Parts: sequence; C-alpha cells; structure tokens
Amino acid sequence: MPELPEVEVVRRGLERWVAHRTVADVEVLHPRAVRRHLAGADDFAHRLKGHRVGVPSRRGKYLWLPLADTSQAVLAHLGMSGQLLVQPHAAPDEKHLRVRVRFADALGTELRFVDQRTFGGLSLHDTGPDGLPDVIAHIARDPLDPLFDDEAFHRALRRRRTTIKRALLDQSLISGVGNIYADEALWRARIHYERPTATLTRPRTAELLGHVRDVMNAALAVGGTSFDSLYVNVNGESGYFDRSLDAYGREGLPCRRCATPMRRRPWMNRSSYFCPRCQRAPRALS
Ligand SMILES: [Zn+2]
Repeated sequence: MPELPEVEVVRRGLERWVAHRTVADVEVLHPRAVRRHLAGADDFAHRLKGHRVGVPSRRGKYLWLPLADTSQAVLAHLGMSGQLLVQPHAAPDEKHLRVRVRFADALGTELRFVDQRTFGGLSLHDTGPDGLPDVIAHIARDPLDPLFDDEAFHRALRRRRTTIKRALLDQSLISGVGNIYADEALWRARIHYERPTATLTRPRTAELLGHVRDVMNAALAVGGTSFDSLYVNVNGESGYFDRSLDAYGREGLPCRRCATPMRRRPWMNRSSYFCPRCQRAPRALS
C-alpha cells in the first residue's frame, strides 16, 4: 500500500495537471475498477461527464477529486498497484489501463487509472459540508493537516488502553501513518512499539508527533521531484524513500545511533523494526 507521502505526491501531480479541467467523457475498460459504484460503469461515466474537477484533496492515504459545483467527489482507491497517470492522448494504452478520463480542452492529455491487480478503483460519493466523501467521514485528520489537534491526540492516547504503534495506525485517532513511518518515527523518538499510550507524557507525545511529521516531510521532499514531469504515479511501498530509512527493513543491521543490531518482531501480521537498546521494551522501563 502506498503511504501518505506517496499519495500526497500523486495529489500534487493531479492538482497541477487535472484540477479545473472539465470532463468530456469517461471510458471504463474494466468494470471491476468501478465496482464500488453500484449503479454501474455507464452511470459512473454519465455522472462525471460535463463536470469540472476541483482541487484534488487528501486525508491520510485517501485521495479524491471533487466535482466542482456539485456535492460529489471521485474517490481513488489505489489498492496495492493502482496508479493515476496523466498521459498524452497519443501514448499507447497501458496493459492494465482500467479507466480513461478525457477533458474538454486542448491540453492534449488525459487521466488514466491503471491497476495491474484490480484491488483499487474509482468511486463516486456524496460529500459532507467539509468536502469529505461520506465513506471516509470517520477518518481522523492526518498529522500534516494544519487542523490536526495535537492536544486532543495526546488526551486520546492517555485515555486509551492500547500500545503506541497500534494507536499510530488507528485511523480514527490519526490517519495516514502506516507501518513504515510508524517504525521510523518510533525509532527517532526512541520509543518501543509496545509501550502503553497511557504512559506518554505531553512532551513525549509532542516529540513523537514531530518525528512523524519529519519522516513524512522528508519522504515528500524526496518524492517531490517526480511531479515536475507529466507523469504522476504510485509505485507501492515507499519505493523512492527506502534508501533513507533508519528502522524499517533493517533487521540485523547496526542501529544508526548506537550500532546495536536492529531487530524485527512479528506484529499484527506485519513486522516491527526497532533498536533493542535505544527503544527499550516497556517491562525494562518500569
Ligand atoms: Zn540504537
């Protein structure tokens, strides 16, 4: 799954190349790509036609294109392998092209949804007063959102009987933090992933949130070059960022702070990477 920085790179690309253009027609090449639109592919295409695309928006890993002057938006589910590409009309169709959107202008480019594994797709939803598609109304703001409430997040951590990494991945508390960035931020903050959230002081929460934002912004800075080209896409799990990771994927390699070999532990069908010296297990803390 792409993480927040990758999705934000796509959003910026779409803002540059697709925002404010009016849909001329929509071609659904594989019905599975619009299966979440229960009225079917023809209805989906009909409802987009003639509408102008507003400024693409994102919350956490969710990305949507508002349809201007309506209270609807197209939500993009990137799944495991979904890509949104802006391509010249003349570019050959991708092998796994699922949906094509043409625009009523002379810019010469079209929007393509390409998805090899077809777990992703596009769907149309009503939006609330805040512009959020109704199906993601329960998703909390992400840490890069200027309106994210640090104090409310801290209070929620103190109230819950959970552990810190579970809390970081809980989309109703904070959105957009996936496995990779959770491990990175926890390593930077020297916090063990199993630490109970009720033990975090306000300064520790603030420090951790700072690190979450730093790792995401660092990823954005690296990925930021790709949206200068006429090509925006998502390549799965943090493709361009992994060379600069400090924790994730570094089992057995020396901790970049203290040289202790990094460890990996199974965690909720995934893995947690940590330094056993810098990030002491909760029992050792007490
Ligand atoms: Zn260490």
